[in-house]
Amino acid sequence: MEVRVQNVRKEFDRFPALHDVSLDIRSGELIALLGPSGSGKTTLLRLIAGLETPTAGKVFFGDTDASEKTVQERNIGFVFQHYALFRHMTILENISFGLKVRPRSSRPPAGEIRRRAMELLDLVQLSGLEKRYPNQLSGGQRQRVALARALAIEPAVLLLDEPFGALDAQVRRELRKWLREIHDRTGHTTVFVTHDQEEALELSDRLCVMSQGKIEQVGTPDSVYDHPTSPFVFGFIGESSELPVTVENNELWVGGRAIGVPAGDAQPGEARLFFRPHDVELVEHDASLAGVVSTNRRVGGTRRVELEIGGAGHLVEVDLPFDHPAGEKTRLAFRPRRWKLFPAV
Ligand code: ADP
Ligand code: MG
Repeated sequence: MEVRVQNVRKEFDRFPALHDVSLDIRSGELIALLGPSGSGKTTLLRLIAGLETPTAGKVFFGDTDASEKTVQERNIGFVFQHYALFRHMTILENISFGLKVRPRSSRPPAGEIRRRAMELLDLVQLSGLEKRYPNQLSGGQRQRVALARALAIEPAVLLLDEPFGALDAQVRRELRKWLREIHDRTGHTTVFVTHDQEEALELSDRLCVMSQGKIEQVGTPDSVYDHPTSPFVFGFIGESSELPVTVENNELWVGGRAIGVPAGDAQPGEARLFFRPHDVELVEHDASLAGVVSTNRRVGGTRRVELEIGGAGHLVEVDLPFDHPAGEKTRLAFRPRRWKLFPAV
């Protein structure tokens, strides 16, 4: 099922949680809504589910205006961060629940419900645990049951709101891979909300970056990571450093010296240069950025070095392969096309 969100605005007591949001979710894709807390991700998900109504704008399911459908008719599978499974039901009863409560006309026979629930239990790799109760499972296992329960109704759209948010890092990483595999096998149109950029990059076909109730950028993980279209996205996805520069004679200048970076079609004047800490290298020549090592620390396999630039006290972070003591002078070149220039604010 494809879902189109068209010029949707949502206010809570005049507070705009979403401003004029438009998003086309393609049939069968796994799209991640990524943004900091309060950016409007859950609100957008609840609007799609029909748990909220838009202040303005529309949501379409295929060609149908979703406002003409009840929550039930939208046939949504929903998994929350803290999805309280029914404590007094076994795992199998939990998974079967959505089918058992259907009106008689659309309810499968009991044997068929059981068969489907057992199949789903197998899909989420919990075979053998059908007679257990939720409190006899780990957090990760419970979220797998929650997913099986959401899938049991064969939803038109699967909505997942930070489903792994409460789990520890190791389990999260495992479930991420596992969810991707399940998606590849079942092909449900899936919207996955997270504030974790690593999770969104690894899991999604496309990601939709949100900030302050607006969509900042939509694209594949590679296109968003490699070509962020705003300072916000550059800073939110992956590591980033920022340096104020001047555009003059089609070149970038810092502290009165050209740094060996062409300015492209940027307007002369002040600008903001963004780059990834790992997209620089040490060089000898003069057409480069001069800096003095201020501090350095280990980050994973490299050293994150803080450089003081141009005597103006401006600090940027770069990754260098070796230890460089404080006070050491360095010259840096930027990897071609890996940096991005934005207008000064
Ligand atoms: P996210 O899921 O990205 O953290 P939310 O969609 O939950 O963000 O919230 C977006 C904004 O809308 C926040 O400022 C939040 O406080 C506000 N908000 C969300 N739901 C309500 C509500 N029911 N009543 C009032 N304000 C709300
Ligand atoms: Mg939320």
